[in-house]
Amino acid sequence: MLELDDVTVRFGATVAVDSVSLSVAEGSVLAVLGPSGCGKSTLLRSIAGLEHLDGGRVCWDGRDLAGVPTHERGFALMFQDGQLFAHASVAENIAYPLKLRRVGRGERARRVAELLELVGLPGYGDRRPTTLSGGEQQRVALARSLAAEPALLLLDEPLSALDRSLRDRLAGDLREILVSTGTTALMVTHDHDEAFTVADRMAVMLDGRIAQEGETVDVWRAP
Ligand code: ADP
Ligand code: ADP
Repeated sequence: MLELDDVTVRFGATVAVDSVSLSVAEGSVLAVLGPSGCGKSTLLRSIAGLEHLDGGRVCWDGRDLAGVPTHERGFALMFQDGQLFAHASVAENIAYPLKLRRVGRGERARRVAELLELVGLPGYGDRRPTTLSGGEQQRVALARSLAAEPALLLLDEPLSALDRSLRDRLAGDLREILVSTGTTALMVTHDHDEAFTVADRMAVMLDGRIAQEGETVDVWRAP
């Protein structure tokens, strides 16, 4: 499980993340919900090992990750703009994390087909990302994030670039995909509905601090 203990990140006089303690149990999904500028991205980047911590600890299964570089943490990241490789096919995009891990060609092809099925895009392997809609591109980005079966999936506003109706539909699919694969995930978002649909637990972030945390239904009902 992921545990944040009193994590603080400062940028000069700005305290972007202020003594945040949180945990995400294995196989569960936590949404960190808050307005723009409240510190969500910085929090996510801290977990990924992309920010210097001014205080506190990030631990995985009880091990302090201080000094463990990003690529050795075994986490995957997905952003608002999926950042697919434009000059590679959909299949090559999804296979990339497997290639990095020296997974053989046959196994890569098998996994890619399985992942395309999972995200609802069977047969899309030979397409170029630029020929896909925004929603399809995010599905491919999700498949690529899940390819190497990350210990933890970190999602930064994964659906925010999409229009409302598409976002609602994709949020439901995202929930199903995370549950069916048993993926442990932390998603940051400014969208209540998205957090409510996707996550088991919700933490509300304001000015760098966690204002409230609990089961999604309970936090949702609170005034
Ligand atoms: P959110 O993701 O919720 O929009 P951020 O984590 O991006 O919030 O930012 C939190 C605060 O930290 C903001 O005041 C932002 O301006 C500041 N901040 C974020 N990154 C940097 C940086 N690299 N240098 C200086 N200030 C930063
Ligand atoms: P710097 O060289 O900038 O001082 P550090 O050596 O402190 O950075 O950290 C190396 C990497 O590990 C950074 O990406 C940082 O975000 C991360 N990190 C530092 N301290 C901790 C900690 N206690 N827990 C988790 N990650 C940490």
